[in-house]
Amino acid sequence: MDAGAERVAEGDAVSVAMGRAYEIVIGIETHVELGTLSKMFCGCSARWFGMPPNTLVCPVCLGLPGALPVPNRRAIELAMTAGLALHCEVPEHTKFDRKNYMYPDLPKGYQISQYDLPLNVKGWLEIPADGGGTKRVGIIRAHLEEDTGKLLHGQGYSLVDFNRSGVPLLEIVSAPDMSSVTEALAYAEALREIVIHAGVSEFRLEEGAARFDTNVSIRFREGGEVRWPPQSEIKNLNSLRAVEQAATFEAQRLWDDWHAGGEIRSRRAKITVGWSPETGRTFLQRRKEEAEDYRYFPEPDLVALAPSRETVATIRSSLPEMPSERRARLASQHGLSDYDARILVSDPALAALFEDAVGLGADPKVTANWIGGETLRLLRERSVRAAEIPFTAAQLAQLVGLITTREISATIAKDVFAEMWASRTDPAAIVEEKGLRQVSDEGALGAVVDQVLAAQAKAATDYRGGNKRALEALFGAVMGRTKGKADPRVVRRLLTEKLG
Ligand SMILES: [Zn+2]
Repeated sequence: MDAGAERVAEGDAVSVAMGRAYEIVIGIETHVELGTLSKMFCGCSARWFGMPPNTLVCPVCLGLPGALPVPNRRAIELAMTAGLALHCEVPEHTKFDRKNYMYPDLPKGYQISQYDLPLNVKGWLEIPADGGGTKRVGIIRAHLEEDTGKLLHGQGYSLVDFNRSGVPLLEIVSAPDMSSVTEALAYAEALREIVIHAGVSEFRLEEGAARFDTNVSIRFREGGEVRWPPQSEIKNLNSLRAVEQAATFEAQRLWDDWHAGGEIRSRRAKITVGWSPETGRTFLQRRKEEAEDYRYFPEPDLVALAPSRETVATIRSSLPEMPSERRARLASQHGLSDYDARILVSDPALAALFEDAVGLGADPKVTANWIGGETLRLLRERSVRAAEIPFTAAQLAQLVGLITTREISATIAKDVFAEMWASRTDPAAIVEEKGLRQVSDEGALGAVVDQVLAAQAKAATDYRGGNKRALEALFGAVMGRTKGKADPRVVRRLLTEKLG
């Protein structure tokens, strides 16, 4: 047996012991645009998505000679808010630096960022751990910078749109604390919820206004030693699904490359790769990218920042309730399951809809079911954001009331819900207008039951003769004659009484 084969065998032994051949180590750098009205260093609008190319630009964000940046106070406050929500410290001294590199989407030839004195340091957030319980993932830093322009590639040419250039961007760098793809997804989801709840950003992944750079490495035992070769940084992942697929692929590729005696065995530094959802593979972008390549130096056009302790204390005390606290409160206050609480808190707009409806007297469990069921289904089906739900909490509370008082049946409620979504009409008005109210009146239903028994005398005789299944045919006939509006419990009782 040669040395290589021995190593593989050793790896297999580890695999048997741990359930998989290697441990995955993941750290994530998240870029998220802050929800300001204007850009980081000029007065141009920061709401670039969907705007005609190069219409939100000025000499500052185009990097024209002589143009001077002026920092956006709101962006700095929002960046500190995010940091404090992530349990970071805001140091007394922080500054902006120039990160020098050439790229067509960066007309200045440098990006204003933060290097050795970031705005937020040493934080953490909590995720569900693979082995059960919870786990803290460290936040190394969260610093402020400006976004770049956007390149649009055609056949044989590229175009550049500078609308996004200069939009305030927060880069949140986690410690390499995630030991599986599942934990990486839990981190991304927890971070998204915290950033949205803190009111810092809408975290619009689908618009490219939030992106993940995912650092993946593998660690394993071989020949009695722990091996931990350099990582791959997968750039610009714009969905949780992309993080999941790309990290899974890259970890396995590194493992396979190691056993094939590939470049990972001699490599000393990380590589940067891209992800192609079409091929389901990563591809090499750059071999080496060290801080010294960027020749960082303090931004000469901006003074250093010294956030006052009063400002930090004010922001910290005005932080809204965070997702984990809100989940725990909703669960205990309204007797919801952890599952229901998670769905509601996945978006503050859903949680607010729930709390407002319940505040108006709606039954909590039924309300949670309608938000987690039909509401989410229609949001996804129509690609609508939770903040844009077309009905009000009062209308939802009214619908829930109609259901819990048995004025409408569950089946009819779905039709009323769809109509309420489409026309924004109050559910009570829809029920009234379309005559959908459930019929529980024994006199009215008794008359229908009598008609059915007369019309289907054979079924009645069969039932009395011991064929219990004949009851279902009679029941179906009554429901049909009332167009589904009859209260099923009253119909069953009347039928058995009259047949008895
Ligand atoms: Zn501008």
